[in-house]
Amino acid sequence: MPELPEVETVRRGLQPVLEGSRLVKVEARRPDLRFPLPQRFSERLAGKKVTALGRRAKYLTMHIEDGPVLICHLGMSGSFRIETAGADDTPGIFHHERSKIAAHDHVVFDVASAKGERSRVIFNDPRRFGFMLFADGAADTHPMLAGLGVEPTGNALDCALLASLLKGRRSPLKAALLDQRLIAGLGNIYVSEALWRAGLSPLREAGTLADGGKKARAQAEHLAQAIRSVIADAIAAGGSSLRDYVHTDGSLGYFQHSFAVYDREGEPCAKAGCRGHIERIVQSGRSTFYCRTCQR
Ligand SMILES: [Zn+2]
Repeated sequence: MPELPEVETVRRGLQPVLEGSRLVKVEARRPDLRFPLPQRFSERLAGKKVTALGRRAKYLTMHIEDGPVLICHLGMSGSFRIETAGADDTPGIFHHERSKIAAHDHVVFDVASAKGERSRVIFNDPRRFGFMLFADGAADTHPMLAGLGVEPTGNALDCALLASLLKGRRSPLKAALLDQRLIAGLGNIYVSEALWRAGLSPLREAGTLADGGKKARAQAEHLAQAIRSVIADAIAAGGSSLRDYVHTDGSLGYFQHSFAVYDREGEPCAKAGCRGHIERIVQSGRSTFYCRTCQR
């Protein structure tokens, strides 16, 4: 499943084509994805201008002038591709090969830029766990988005906020970081990576980072930095991959070359001076990768 950095990469790939452009025609080739498409889906979008393409957690938000906000989730296998005269681009790279099978092209946006250039943005989703919904009014108040926690990008997530989110929590640190009501869009892979960077065990009690002590404060600071940097690095890697592979069919996996612990069970820990090895454990039914030597 794509995580936040992959979704942000998709957003950045689509943004130049969609923002400021007009949706000349919108074709829904089936009535539903994971959920039924909104009523009068095509009619409410056709002819309208896209004022902004945003992202909240793992949701893309397409803002429509005098219209609804289109909230889009890629699900497990959803992808967008852009077809212009002479190019065929798939923004974002993913763990699984992107489908280009026409039978899975479910929604097609015909787009005209302000300069009159025509493109086609195609949503393809073989497994149909993705979805598109309308928010009338602010997207943030839509039930899908209303309960989401702070974004792990930018400077909002600092030491003080992180400590306040974790305060009093008895759950393992990893589980708390995966709780979308606390931090939105942080998934299994990047939580493992951030904890390794911060030198913190995924098993330690979350609340220990907010006990008011000097050591806890330093650890919370370190973790907040690690979360922000791991996400920023993954987005940067996606950006460069996007440029490098813009004409391929996107069969690469995630940003896995930059992973220090994820999927590296048994390998030596890459932290300078650490002689430990990466272990895999299962927490809440999901794999956690960590080094018990340097992560305490
Ligand atoms: Zn280590």
